[in-house]
Amino acid sequence: MYNTYFIIILSILVFGFLLERILDHLNFHRWKSDLLEKLASFYSKEEYKKAYQYNKTKDRFSLLTDSLSFIIMILFFVLGGFAWLNGILEPGIDSEILLALAFFGILFIASDLISIPFSIYNTFVIEEKFGFNKTTPRIFVFDKLKSYLLTIVIGGGISYVLLWLISELREDFWLYAFLVVLAFSILMNFFYTTLILPLFNKLKPLEEGELKSAIEDFASKVKFPLTKVFVIDGSKRSSKANAFFSGFGRKKKIVLYDTLIEKHTTEELVAVLAHEVGHFKKKHIIKNMVVSFLQTFVMLYILSLLLFHETISVGLTNAFGLEGTNAVLHINLIAIAILFEPVNLILGLFGNIVSRKYEFQADRFAVENSNGEALASALKKMSAHHLSNLDPHPAYVFFYYSHPPLIQRLEEMNS
Ligand SMILES: [Zn+2]
Repeated sequence: MYNTYFIIILSILVFGFLLERILDHLNFHRWKSDLLEKLASFYSKEEYKKAYQYNKTKDRFSLLTDSLSFIIMILFFVLGGFAWLNGILEPGIDSEILLALAFFGILFIASDLISIPFSIYNTFVIEEKFGFNKTTPRIFVFDKLKSYLLTIVIGGGISYVLLWLISELREDFWLYAFLVVLAFSILMNFFYTTLILPLFNKLKPLEEGELKSAIEDFASKVKFPLTKVFVIDGSKRSSKANAFFSGFGRKKKIVLYDTLIEKHTTEELVAVLAHEVGHFKKKHIIKNMVVSFLQTFVMLYILSLLLFHETISVGLTNAFGLEGTNAVLHINLIAIAILFEPVNLILGLFGNIVSRKYEFQADRFAVENSNGEALASALKKMSAHHLSNLDPHPAYVFFYYSHPPLIQRLEEMNS
């Protein structure tokens, strides 16, 4: 059990946890108790105090949950929990695919059950205390049930297909698996707003009126092929606001949260939309998709090499406490997922660098084609309302932020 792979996997888990703690610590102690001068123009002292308390509460809470899940993972790994679970399931299940599905299914349910009390505390205590929560216990329970159902149908379905490919084609599985993942993501993109989203929210077309005509005027001015604008009842769960694009080609849709419409002027909403259109015009969406497909392609190829390498595959299985000379597929999938973590960290870091650059470009597009002042005022309003951390530590931003901090965006827009 305590072979080289055991040491590598343990080190990756510990390193990942420590890195997170260091970054969190830096960010946590960055907050000054006094309002910074450059924020004073749009943050009142009271709002700042509230944001300070909200962020501190959130940080402490995630320290608790992260530490707990880290300890559980380490103990389960070091004490041979994965081998123990495998030992219980294996005698009763002949098929390699069904055994793997049962194994992952049980791990999923167990980790979800552990997380439920924390999720309840986060929604009904923390978010409630700061005035964001609109979720009722009934919505919470139904959301849970619906997402279980989706996980079983969609997650179970795609996992079955991928496991079947591995077990039938062995080391040649990766190219077919890639095609399946490719087709699956494109389908999900097409049907997200028509099939998945309506399970959780009501979508209705934006009513005729001032806002709709302003959006249509803007779209025709910048030659954006506007199809449909929808309003979603985000207010059902939280007072936090958002807007997004979904789908592509003729299925393209713009979705605005009712909470966003409620709190902003027409000029501000058009400017927010102009930012989103900027992402589309600068081809950010399609570029991101191509990059993520390339990553999947390479990852699946490396997965096939590791999974079917004679000594590595047996070594990984042994590291999880299963003796013998047979590699166990589902154990090795978990092992390789952990081995990929440092790679994912680096890819995510580059992804965030690119994403922050794209945000500046989309802001620039909005400034040039819509109203920069209105965008700035919408961004300020949203930050203040969401009690965002307006002055995060640069190291934290470098690793985790997909969007530049507000102050940088405002400076860049004014330059
Ligand atoms: Zn953006």
